[in-house]
Amino acid sequence: MGTVYAIANQKGGVGKTTTAVNVAACIAEAGYPTLLVDIDPQANATVGLGAPKDGHPSIYDVLSGEADAASALRDTEIDRLRLLPAHPDLAGANVELPRQPGSEQLLRQALAPIRDRFAYTLLDCPPSLGPLTVNALVAADRVIVPVQTEYFALEGLAGLLDTLSLVQRELNPRLTVAGMILTMHDGRTRLARDVEREVREHFPSLVFETVIPRNVRVGEAPSFGRPVIHHDPHCAGSDAYFELAKEVAARG
Ligand code: ADP
Ligand code: MG
Repeated sequence: MGTVYAIANQKGGVGKTTTAVNVAACIAEAGYPTLLVDIDPQANATVGLGAPKDGHPSIYDVLSGEADAASALRDTEIDRLRLLPAHPDLAGANVELPRQPGSEQLLRQALAPIRDRFAYTLLDCPPSLGPLTVNALVAADRVIVPVQTEYFALEGLAGLLDTLSLVQRELNPRLTVAGMILTMHDGRTRLARDVEREVREHFPSLVFETVIPRNVRVGEAPSFGRPVIHHDPHCAGSDAYFELAKEVAARG
């Protein structure tokens, strides 16, 4: 039975997409059939894996019942990694979804026929706690929370954890937090070290050992439409994402 991970944080720019794309690529590279589902209307993960952001069928067609998930899967340049792309129309889903009763189950239902084809499915969430993210949390078994290693890192995390508890109680009792991952860490600054210490003290046992460094190669890889492990397999960012993927798999 495959495991589904939502990569979620209502803040934008914290490293959700980068983490989703690169953890998915590392897991696939390690030999596991892996699926990345892009449910952000900005379609950054879609473009970051080399697919057009306005192609069809997309997750929008799947959620609106016009295509089944299997028909929307695309190959990527990483063996064993497939993509279910986003589309800008998905922005409308935030308005359309709440009008349909039971709409928070749509993604879970759509993925049910294909989830066991993949050892791991990663859901790249938009930067909000709106209906798309709730759909991801209902479809997921675990949540990975990227936390940017900057001042204000802790801000919003309490609200996110409250939302996770609510979803767990009302909609998805299976849901657990896999962990928080510190991203864009600049080891040369005292701020990064202070923030890391503070987050670890605040959430003991929840924060992954691995820390993702701020790394130019990680930032530029999406402009080539590929994960950093293909862009520069030996840079510090690739090493860190391989370590993180191992930790994620080890936590089960
Ligand atoms: P989110 O999906 O949470 O909005 P992204 O993953 O898109 O965040 O990251 C925001 C920006 O920061 C992007 O331009 C991305 O390329 C860049 N970025 C993310 N992680 C790193 C990193 N470790 N080093 C350098 N740049 C990064
Ligand atoms: Mg994103």
